Amino acid sequence: MPRPTAFPPELAAALSARIAGDVRFDDMSRGLYSTDASIYQITPIGVVLPHSRDDVLAAIEIAARFEVPILPRGGGTSLSGQTVAAALVIDFTRYMNRVLEIDLERKLVRVEPGVVLDQLNAVLKPHGLQFGPDVATSSRASLGGMIGNNSAGSRSIRQGKVIDHVRELEVTLADGTRLRCGPTTADAVSALASSPGPVGEIHREFPRIVAENRREILAKYPRILRRVSGYNLDAFVPELYNQMPLAPVPRELDRQWPDRSEFNLARIFVGAEGTLGTVTEALLHAVPLPRHRGVILLEFRTIDAALEATPTIIECEPSAVELLDRNIIELSRQNLKYRKSLDFVSGTPEALLIVEFSADSQVAIQDGLQLLEQKMKGRPGLDRFLPAATPQQCEQIWNCRKASAPLLLSIPGARKPIAFVEDTAVEPARLAAFTRRFRGILSKHRITGAYYGHASVGCLHIRPMIDTKSAADLAILRAVSDEVAQLVQEYGGAMTGEHGDGLARSYHNLKLFG
Ligand SMILES: Cc1cc2nc3c(=O)[nH]c(=O)nc-3n(C[C@H](O)[C@H](O)[C@H](O)COP(=O)(O)OP(=O)(O)OC[C@H]3O[C@@H](n4cnc5c(N)ncnc54)[C@H](O)[C@@H]3O)c2cc1C
Repeated sequence: MPRPTAFPPELAAALSARIAGDVRFDDMSRGLYSTDASIYQITPIGVVLPHSRDDVLAAIEIAARFEVPILPRGGGTSLSGQTVAAALVIDFTRYMNRVLEIDLERKLVRVEPGVVLDQLNAVLKPHGLQFGPDVATSSRASLGGMIGNNSAGSRSIRQGKVIDHVRELEVTLADGTRLRCGPTTADAVSALASSPGPVGEIHREFPRIVAENRREILAKYPRILRRVSGYNLDAFVPELYNQMPLAPVPRELDRQWPDRSEFNLARIFVGAEGTLGTVTEALLHAVPLPRHRGVILLEFRTIDAALEATPTIIECEPSAVELLDRNIIELSRQNLKYRKSLDFVSGTPEALLIVEFSADSQVAIQDGLQLLEQKMKGRPGLDRFLPAATPQQCEQIWNCRKASAPLLLSIPGARKPIAFVEDTAVEPARLAAFTRRFRGILSKHRITGAYYGHASVGCLHIRPMIDTKSAADLAILRAVSDEVAQLVQEYGGAMTGEHGDGLARSYHNLKLFG
């Protein structure tokens, strides 16, 4: 049972007096907000559903007066516990969920944080546009939450992460200061630094802190496409930022928008999981929606064979390479909703790779598929190529991929594939070796795991099978977490490539980042 969280009795009344939106302190609401998609459960102090940025400001000011922490929240689909706390939760999805403006000429879209990704993409699609990062939870993940976690998705090898697509943010800080941040020239940063109050202090102190810790940042930040652990300090050290691999779509945005190389404070709020400020509005880049997609499934005899093949597949410039293990294949076959998704997979492969090509012409898709077949022919451990014949089949495959985590949770028994080291990322060329070592850690503790995720960018969702009601298994959980963190460090990788640190992983950051 979650322990009840105490709160000052006058807090609810003070909030209700100033807030036009909803203020909920009843047990039912607090119970509803005590969980997210993680293994944690913590009852919040209360919940505010703001109507406007003024409501947000009022909630933050009142919380500060009562010395109560605040926790911004979107869809609550986070996997590492960053949306549960003994705090005042501010849920943006109920009312602050409007797409405010679309600038088609500049391909920019202004949103409130509670807009859900599918909702945004439905508005952009008629204009041939989309938001780049494509989380599997697109039907419920909000833009505020995606910004908070610096989310990515299956197509990040092409589209990048949220940080690559945020242009400006409006943020309210814990002391009620409202900041608008976006690309800022060096002269403008100097001018801001000499302004009074918190804005001046931030523009003086933040560049100083980055400069003082430059050497440490250069030494500790991994040079991989997928790192969301820690804060985005690397985005403020230009020589490091230039060493980072960049996906083609953000690279094109950089070409079109030279001011993206300027100082942009918005980037420190991306991926900060709400710990530095609360986003009340965002100006985002929208990117072209490819006209055609083609999907092929590759059946492998082992996970290792699939991961060893991945670097060669990447040479064909696919828009996604996703791994599904045998667990997911079998569970989808037993599931009423998904059993048709993979019905053309006839054998019993240990691993499937879903490879997708995206382009504006069908010819380019066929070229990609042909090149892939050529390069993969005779590959050890590869049994079959299974091209999806119709757009419906492509959609079914993607639906099944998106359902991987829920399918896995239907595994019977006390031990479940749970999320706590489920988002490690390494350079794709090292993924096979890294995964073998990861499996070795699980074997040492006599447990198994479920494997799926974004092979294209070295970010696998490996979920160890743990019984969270067993003290012995909880000791294993802690040991596995520490050993995986050490392994990640050895491989120059990240503990999280998209899901965020939350409660599950932030304690490793001191070791990883200094
Ligand atoms: C089955 C499943 C599949 C998933 N697949 C993916 C995937 O493919 N790719 C991926 O990247 N992630 C994935 N996730 C993780 C999660 O869905 C994403 O991180 C998602 O973007 C979170 O959105 P949300 O609205 O649920 O945010 P929440 O979970 O509500 O919040 C996320 C973080 O953002 C902060 N936050 C929320 N709103 C604000 C705001 N206005 N201002 C400041 N901070 C704010 C919160 O405090 C929290 O720290 C998956 C999760 C599940 C359960």
